[in-house]
Amino acid sequence: MWNEIFEKIESSYQEMVDTRRYLHQHPELSFQEKHTSQFIAQQYEEWGIPYETNIGGYGVVATLNGGKDGKTVALRADFDALPIQDEKDVPYKSTVPGVMHACGHDGHTASLLGVAKALLPYQEDLPGTVVFLHQPAEEYAPGGAKPMIDDGALKGVDAVFGTHLWADAPVGVIQTTKGPFMAGADRFEITIKGKGGHGALPHQTKDAIVIGSQLVTQLQQIVSRRLDPLSTAVVTVGTFEAGQAFNVIADQARISGTVRMFDEDVQTKIIKTIENMVKSACLPYEADYELNYLKGYPPVMNHRKEAELILDGFTEVSGIERTEEILPVMGGEDFAYYLQHKPGAFYFTGAQKEGHVYPHHHPMFDFDERALPLSAKTLVQAYRLYQQENGYT
Ligand code: MN
Repeated sequence: MWNEIFEKIESSYQEMVDTRRYLHQHPELSFQEKHTSQFIAQQYEEWGIPYETNIGGYGVVATLNGGKDGKTVALRADFDALPIQDEKDVPYKSTVPGVMHACGHDGHTASLLGVAKALLPYQEDLPGTVVFLHQPAEEYAPGGAKPMIDDGALKGVDAVFGTHLWADAPVGVIQTTKGPFMAGADRFEITIKGKGGHGALPHQTKDAIVIGSQLVTQLQQIVSRRLDPLSTAVVTVGTFEAGQAFNVIADQARISGTVRMFDEDVQTKIIKTIENMVKSACLPYEADYELNYLKGYPPVMNHRKEAELILDGFTEVSGIERTEEILPVMGGEDFAYYLQHKPGAFYFTGAQKEGHVYPHHHPMFDFDERALPLSAKTLVQAYRLYQQENGYT
């Protein structure tokens, strides 16, 4: 049966590509994915697979009850796009100005729909239950995973798996870890409130640019001087906005950035150090400040046993050349929340497009569509292996 399911996925390649390209042309931003959600629900409606809509926002949860005993395994795909102008020159380019599927979530959705369609004819022979989690708003904290869980999406679920199409890995390669996999991702916003004035009379001012510049340099020392060299973190300043004219001293500087880490103690120390550094940068100038630290997604912590199923059992899938245990990556993912509630693992499905080397979130981002059936087949394999592991076939 399993080989027939895999063949069914392979033969629906063109359909998955069409679905992916349709979504690619019609991207919707996080928390605004009304039509994408309807599109997904419509598929389940056509196939006669029971589903619920508006789960924790625009989430769609479909359930396929197998005819045999077994565990309940949830498979997750996110479906939101990014505020990026699509600059690719392809027929399936985004039709929405300034909005683009620049992370591959269109492909995640196409793959998971492909899984549902391929499993359906075998429903009577399937062990346990498959829950299809179609999740909105991955790209923007607080994200869609948490509200879906709060709304009961994991009720009765024994394990959860998900994958991200990954442009950094070649097609045919699966990557994951047996523990920390993706980083916790926070955001900070700092406003330095100085005092503006004439560029020739600095003593009458509190120069927000000078204070802010010193602070940016200081922040670089959190990771290098304040953390254990063996712990892992990133502190990045992404924006610095200040000043209006060349001969005017700026009264305000606005700085924002991101913090990535795998450990709560590290997070606490970074927060405290940022506070101290902002305070001390302002002190000599008697300037004020405002600091907003927004905790984002927690780190994605894979469960060892489920990760081992992936690393040991995915090479059985035709088209998968190898699985790799990699070092954790510093990107964030709200799949983290599912793993706080249920055993499971998240993995990358290699999707690198040859000769097209643009990273995720780039206006030229694209992936190799041959990865679509591979991510679909490996999701099926995760469900299959988890059943086997628990004595069901
Ligand atoms: Mn993503």
